Amino acid sequence: MKLAVPKEIWPGEKRVAVTPDTVKKLIGLGFDVAIEAGAGINAAIPDDRFADAGATIAKTMKTTVKDADVILKVRPPVVDGKTDELAAYRKGAAVIALLDPYDRKDLIEKMAAAGVSSFAMELMPRISRAQSMDVLSSQSNLAGYRAVLDAAHEFGRIYPMMMTAAGTLPPARIVVVGAGVAGLQAIATAKRLGAVVSAFDVRPAVKEQVQSLGGTFIEVEDDAADGETAGGYAKEMSDEYKAKQAAKLKEVLAKTDIVITTALIPGRPAPEIVTADMVAGMKPGSVIIDLAAERGGNVAGAKLGETVVTANGVKIIGPENITSSVATDATAMYAKNLLNFITLSVDKEKGTLAFNAEDQIIVETMLTRDGKVVHPKFGGEEV
Ligand code: NAD
Repeated sequence: MKLAVPKEIWPGEKRVAVTPDTVKKLIGLGFDVAIEAGAGINAAIPDDRFADAGATIAKTMKTTVKDADVILKVRPPVVDGKTDELAAYRKGAAVIALLDPYDRKDLIEKMAAAGVSSFAMELMPRISRAQSMDVLSSQSNLAGYRAVLDAAHEFGRIYPMMMTAAGTLPPARIVVVGAGVAGLQAIATAKRLGAVVSAFDVRPAVKEQVQSLGGTFIEVEDDAADGETAGGYAKEMSDEYKAKQAAKLKEVLAKTDIVITTALIPGRPAPEIVTADMVAGMKPGSVIIDLAAERGGNVAGAKLGETVVTANGVKIIGPENITSSVATDATAMYAKNLLNFITLSVDKEKGTLAFNAEDQIIVETMLTRDGKVVHPKFGGEEV
């Protein structure tokens, strides 16, 4: 069994899909591992560390993936006018990566046509058995941490209260919108740095989690509101709820220094929560980090990959691929998630690979197989 790891060519992507530690374990499972030269350097893993772990270093993407049974990646295969990564893969190979399925129906079709089996890691079910394979959680956790540091860097003041002979500095007030994995880590990080933190979410179930981290939960009074689906994700809220939420947030944000937004709804554009009117009511020098910018943004006026300064002096930042700014740790966690996922499908004794189409983890992540789209959410009929 051959497993290949090409260098990521997605603009700005610094992570890689394996570490020397996971390479050793993959070899232990029976794989021959080939890694493209330079694949790990942006995550601080030089080729010799992969070679020491037992991998073969290949010169080009084509030689790396040639005859591979499994290809591990961070970003989707690039297929554009200049590059066609899919064309280099063996028919029947399995591609395991963040495949952005909701926005890349075109790629799903192309992967089916290329005859590869593909597994989208963002579709991992939220069940206990899959927790160690959950890349959205591992990467969001780091994004939440980093957003608080980026906001500190942009903020012209400090986070903690400081009483000095030269006067007393008040603590920064931070509001986190969306208290999922990224939001909870942002709350914990901001608390550790001495800020006064409050948070807000449509799922009332997170109130206790926010409080246990020392944050205050911002309540929107609405008896009918429970924004949680059976899968634990948020759902789209009613217009009445949205109006109440907006009134409450406007009042809170006028007294807030830093806002970190993380609110997502799977398969849909991110909801706009912080409106232009709310931003206009904020103090000069306030900083907003919109972690949902890649999915359309939670904040009016946020631009992906840019810092916008509004007329009233509020900085709105729309980070692009924030996890690549902590590429070494993000790689360590991502690589572990992928190792746990592939381990499911390997028979170590026989040295064979088989994806069990009755396992919920495989069913929910597999997009294509045998030349067909198989995932029911993306046009497939059978698994
Ligand atoms: P997410 O990234 O999809 O969304 C981030 C947060 O934004 C969520 O908490 C969501 O409720 C919130 N949100 C959505 N719309 C909003 C709005 N209009 N206003 C305010 N907030 C809004 O979520 P996530 O971080 O992936 O976490 C979703 C849930 O899944 C959490 O309860 C998490 O603890 C749980 N989870 C379970 C497992 C598991 O059991 N294996 C693994 C990871 C996460």
